[in-house]
Amino acid sequence: MIRLDCTQISVVIVCETCGIWHAFAFDKLEAWERAAAHEERAHPHLTQARDALSTYRKRARHAV
Ligand SMILES: [Zn+2]
Repeated sequence: MIRLDCTQISVVIVCETCGIWHAFAFDKLEAWERAAAHEERAHPHLTQARDALSTYRKRARHAV
């Protein structure tokens, strides 16, 4: 399970499955891209971050 902590200037990505992995991004799309890349590498049996990324991309496309 990966969650995002959004602040006003950045997004902190925390992987609760590892308990240790975390990363920073400047927006939510970048955050989910990094989370999905981590998930694919470290937790290939999970799809939560990749699902969230595809949902976010679809939503972002509709919003434009
Ligand atoms: Zn992890």
